[in-house]
Amino acid sequence: MAYMTEQRKLLYEFFQSHPHDKFCVKDIYAALSQYDISRSAIYRNLSAMKKDGLVRCDISEGSRDVFYQFVNSTHCSNAIHLSCVECGKTFHMKTSYASQLQNELAQQEGFSINKSKTVLYGTCKNCKNG
Ligand SMILES: [Zn+2]
Ligand SMILES: [Zn+2]
Repeated sequence: MAYMTEQRKLLYEFFQSHPHDKFCVKDIYAALSQYDISRSAIYRNLSAMKKDGLVRCDISEGSRDVFYQFVNSTHCSNAIHLSCVECGKTFHMKTSYASQLQNELAQQEGFSINKSKTVLYGTCKNCKNG
């Protein structure tokens, strides 16, 4: 990965932790409100990330908002996915749990997980609390 500015890194990490969700600039600005990043900096960095193929953008019909979504298939293929049956959102299992699960199964059962095909279904914390 080429050199990234702090703001670029912030956005990159934000998308990396929500790789399946679409966000408009307003959402991103709200999510990163504790950091020192302006809306115009978000716009600027998003268009640079789009040019580099790191995010794709989507214009939803009937709305003027542009939604951005992360593009990173390597990241997804290295993750075990958790799918919420309530809201339909998909999350990544924390890498440490995933590799622990993988190691245990390999040692105890001689079974090797195909991570790109593995999805665990359940209820996410937002739906459980809501
Ligand atoms: Zn994924
Ligand atoms: Zn949910």
